[in-house]
This record gives sequence, C-alpha cells and structure tokens, in this order.
Amino acid sequence: VFDLAIHGKTFSGDLQELWTYVEKGVIACVSKKRVGSADETLELSADEMLLPAATDLHVHLRDWGHSHKETVESATKSALLGGVTTVADMPNTQPELTTPDLVRRRVQLIKSSSYVDFCLHCSLPREPKLLIEMKEAGAYALKFYPKDLYFFEEYAEYASKLGLKSVVHAEELALIGTAAEAKAELNAVKSLVRRIRKEWEVRFAHISTAGALRRILGAKLNSSKVTLEVAPHHVFVDRQSCVKRIGVASAVRPPLRSKRDVSELFFALVSNLIDFYATDHAPHTRDEKFCPNPSPGFPALEIAYPLLMTKVSDPAIACKVYCERPAEYLGIKKGFIKPGYDADMVVFRRFQQRIQGSNFVSKARITPFEGEYLGYSVKKVFIRGELACSSGLPQRVSVRHIK
Ligand SMILES: [Zn+2]
Repeated sequence: VFDLAIHGKTFSGDLQELWTYVEKGVIACVSKKRVGSADETLELSADEMLLPAATDLHVHLRDWGHSHKETVESATKSALLGGVTTVADMPNTQPELTTPDLVRRRVQLIKSSSYVDFCLHCSLPREPKLLIEMKEAGAYALKFYPKDLYFFEEYAEYASKLGLKSVVHAEELALIGTAAEAKAELNAVKSLVRRIRKEWEVRFAHISTAGALRRILGAKLNSSKVTLEVAPHHVFVDRQSCVKRIGVASAVRPPLRSKRDVSELFFALVSNLIDFYATDHAPHTRDEKFCPNPSPGFPALEIAYPLLMTKVSDPAIACKVYCERPAEYLGIKKGFIKPGYDADMVVFRRFQQRIQGSNFVSKARITPFEGEYLGYSVKKVFIRGELACSSGLPQRVSVRHIK
C-alpha cells in the first residue's frame, strides 16, 4: 500500500495519462496502469495536470534589516503558491552575508520560518581563505556583485577548489548609471569570459541582452561548467511596454531591454539554449518603487511558473529550465516525476486569470506583468508527498537546507 497515488495527465518525459505512486516522500512508481492501492488517491480532472515542482536559483528572501520589503515567511509562502519548492537565497541582505557567522544565522532563520527547501549564496568574505568556513557554515555558492568583479579570479579559483559554485551579476560597475550603461552587461561578460578557467563552475545570473547571450553561448562551447540564467522580466517583457504599465517602477538591474533583445532571449529559451529560468524575486515596497530613485527589482515567485507555462506553451521546455536543470545543478533528486525522485509536484489547472500584483502574498506587489493573462493556476503543491499548498493556502511542512 502506497502513501499517495495521483492519477491523471502527468508530465514525465511527455504529457500522458499516468498513475504516480508516492512512498515515504519519494516517487516509488509511475505507470500507465493502476499497480496498487494507496492510503490517499487523488484523481485529476480533465483540465488539470501534474508537473514537477520548480527550483528557483535566484531569490531575495530579504528579512532582517529588510523585513519591511519581505520576510522569509512571506517570500517562501509566495514560492509555494507559485509551485516552487526549492529556493536559492541571495546574499545582499542587511547586513550582507560576508562572514561565516552571518551565514550560520541566516541558515537558522530560514530553517525556522521557510515553507520550502532552500540553499544559500554567500558574499565575498574578507579573504578568499575564509571561503572554507563560509561553505562549512552552509553556503553552496559564492555571489559576485558588480563591485566584487575586480576580485573575481582569486575568489573564483579558491571557490572552485572547495567545490563552491560561482555566480556572477555581470555588469561593469563604472558604467552603471552613465550614458554608456547599455554596454555595462556586454563589457562585463566579455571580460569574465576571458578570465574564466575551464574547471570553474560559473553561472551568469539574469542575462538580459542579445550580445551577452551570444558571448556566453560561445563560452559554453569551451566549458561545460559555464551556465546561464534568465529572468521572466527580461525574457517576456520589453522596457517600453513595462514603462507604459508601471512607469518609474520598471527599474531593475540589469535594466529591461529592447523588443529585439527580448525576442532573441525568448527564441533562445524555446530553442533550449538557456540553462535556467529564475525569478530574481527582489521585493520592494510601493513607496520604494514609485519615487525619484526607485529601487531595482520585482517580486515574481507567485506567477513565474504559470507564466512560463503560458508563454512557452510546452511543459518539456518549462520543466527543463525551471525544474530539471536547476535541481541537477544543486545535486538534488527533484525536478522529474520518475521513480527515486522527491515527490515535489504541482497540480496545474487550466484557468484564465489576469495578473494583479495587489493579490500577491509577497509584501511586494508591483509587477511588470500587471494585467497580463495567465493560462494556468497552481491548485496543489506537494513537498515530498506532503500537501504543502491547496487552493491558495500554504502549509508549513518540514523543509531541508541544501548544501
Ligand atoms: Zn538578484
């Protein structure tokens, strides 16, 4: 007798009618025929389908000195509502995550209040040799912001020896906020691509321009350890359309781009050239977004997965970039509905709805997608077979820290 059986349209390699059986939190069997009984059986209706839950590699959970923007609780509840069961937290917190002690405190905080599994990026400590302690304290990756790129080689080399991944925000600091800002990303990418050594695992976060994209695709031919991530706001919306919707609140780093950049990024996404889709969920209050010097970033966890499914209209692409590859990158058994994998799964329902930021559970409610249509809603979310979210109500189940 299994713990749980789910029957209906299921994505497992392709979309077909299947029985998925769960035992002790793990997918035990996936079959075209009924193979046994279960304590609980869920029968999906014709407009529903079962997909793997998503892993989001780029999320700012905030909290601490930024609790007015977002807390671990509000951010991870919104992750669950969006079908995301693992998040990777970014380290530009208040205070910034630059010491082993802060990493330990951050792990404790997230463990005690998160609704989903999590892992942590850390910032550059005072000296590269402290990276050992950062890793022991619980960080899985090192994040380089534009201010940190001057020290890229020494830290990336050290990180690589320790098995810590490197993640770069590629924009040349000296150009940000100047007339030459449009070149900030491409310049930084060109320089980094020259400096990366083959054995370093380097992920380019939120790539936003066609030029940078092409450079990185070139670099990937030389190294299988270079990866690339895109955010929903760079791949689905151009600057002009966003400014029409939300004016000055369109501010984000890197900035929103032209229609040409957006269409080239979108083409790369549907052509399976992009490794990861990640929100860069970066919450700010309404006042911080609508002011003369607006804070950069948007919340997106609640809509990212349904939005991706709506835009690419192919679960194979959506699952690759938001479930399978991010989980493989973290070395966790998630992202697939097949035996041996964690039973982290989402029931999607075909349902037309308009995006309204004012309905977000995230404290941040200004979105570049305001008023756009979603073709799906997230009806249920399971974490290791436990029902963690049903009809918009998140429940706290036990969560894991991934190192
Ligand atoms: Zn970010």
